[in-house]
Amino acid sequence: MDDSCLFCKIATGAIPVAPLYEDEDVLAFSDIAPQAPVHFLVIPKKHIIGPAAIGQEDEQLLGKMLRTAATIAQEQGIGDQYRVVANNGAKAGQTVFHLHLHILGGRAMQWPPG
Ligand code: 5GP
Ligand code: ZN
Repeated sequence: MDDSCLFCKIATGAIPVAPLYEDEDVLAFSDIAPQAPVHFLVIPKKHIIGPAAIGQEDEQLLGKMLRTAATIAQEQGIGDQYRVVANNGAKAGQTVFHLHLHILGGRAMQWPPG
């Protein structure tokens, strides 16, 4: 827990969100500024600053995050067509320095991303 971290505050409930899924390890909620018809985030409750800070001890957690994403994507009707994004570092677009997976779907996607 990092007291200055927005997603830690969301993970602990200090800042309330409507969860799409929650358990002791992960929380999923809709992005406040959606970039696609479906755009939600999956975060670990543990404070990990970003993809490059994932430790060996987090490998199972990351698998759970991806499986959670797949389950919610199915529930949201995009289960067979969605993109998973994890930005690492400000130049890569990271603005919240607590690991999160973006799941985007419901429209056609371009490649490469900008
Ligand atoms: P990043 O740019 O770090 O990859 O992604 C951070 C994401 O968090 C952005 O898509 C942004 O819209 C979202 N976000 C930032 N603050 C909040 C918030 O208070 N609530 C929710 N639901 N999403 C947020
Ligand atoms: Zn955090």
